[in-house]
Amino acid sequence: METRRVTVSREHNRGFESLVTETLRGAGDFPFRLDNKVVAITGAGSGIGREIAEVFAAAGARVRTLDINLGAAEEVAQIIRNRDLEAAAFECDVSSGDAVNRTFASLFCQDRVHILVNNAGIAHVGNIEQTSEADFEKIFRVNVAGMYHCMQTCIPNMVRRGGGVILNMASIAATSGVADRFAYSMSKGAVVSMTYSVAKDYISKNIRCNCISPARVQTPFLDGFLAQSYAELEKQMFDKLAASQPIGRMAQPREIAMLALFLCSDEAAFITGADFPIDGGFLTLRG
Ligand code: NAD
Repeated sequence: METRRVTVSREHNRGFESLVTETLRGAGDFPFRLDNKVVAITGAGSGIGREIAEVFAAAGARVRTLDINLGAAEEVAQIIRNRDLEAAAFECDVSSGDAVNRTFASLFCQDRVHILVNNAGIAHVGNIEQTSEADFEKIFRVNVAGMYHCMQTCIPNMVRRGGGVILNMASIAATSGVADRFAYSMSKGAVVSMTYSVAKDYISKNIRCNCISPARVQTPFLDGFLAQSYAELEKQMFDKLAASQPIGRMAQPREIAMLALFLCSDEAAFITGADFPIDGGFLTLRG
């Protein structure tokens, strides 16, 4: 079978970036609305979480940005408030059950949380031999236990208040063999299965739970990983990673945020217990 070879570059990706990242000013003209819905987004200080926060606010949501980095969460909330939209920032390390309970307790004092976006996550590179127990546990604490903590604290509140929507950030690494991502793949596989489990157990409580599985997205997460793992070879690796999507480029965070917006809106009321790849053809078109 013939394999299509795609030549891409950072510049190619940048050209696309400008198409999908026009400035958000005030309430956006989006086809899907979240008016007056309170949305808690973890890892909202950077990358995909930041974009989800900005898009959801522009779609009418009252956004709560949660991040281990309070400065970053506050910066995003301030950008949203500068557009005369509502946002508040909270410091929250999702790997700590106590910290998550404290943060959501202060949120619940004031508000019902209609939508939880479990987005915070960290990366790790290495096969099983290169993954120390400490690395394995760290990835587990943030990427798996972090989502468990947030869902465990939010679900009783959602049940009492008549329902809600949960959206978890998984990855194509959950369902596809990606080289040197042993711990990361383990964690994202768990995200997909936690999503199905919660969706099943709470379907009768009017809680919808889905997950998104992106391929490579151009965020600080990716830039940091390239700088750390491929110093001096960053550009070559960027181009190689971009080309690994059959569509020939990486995703932009805005594209992930738009899928998240649809899945969290009432227009997606029939969708629960599903994993949505957004991957430029990575999972099915690489033959
Ligand atoms: P990013 O590094 O740009 O942002 C992640 C944010 O999470 C940061 O603001 C960071 O401070 C925060 N964070 C880290 N640990 C935390 C903790 N313990 N508690 C609370 N916040 C914490 O990353 P991104 O690329 O936007 O990735 C977001 C999510 O998307 C992650 O779950 C990641 O696994 C997933 N994802 C990313 C890609 C990609 O190519 N970028 C692909 C597939 C899936």
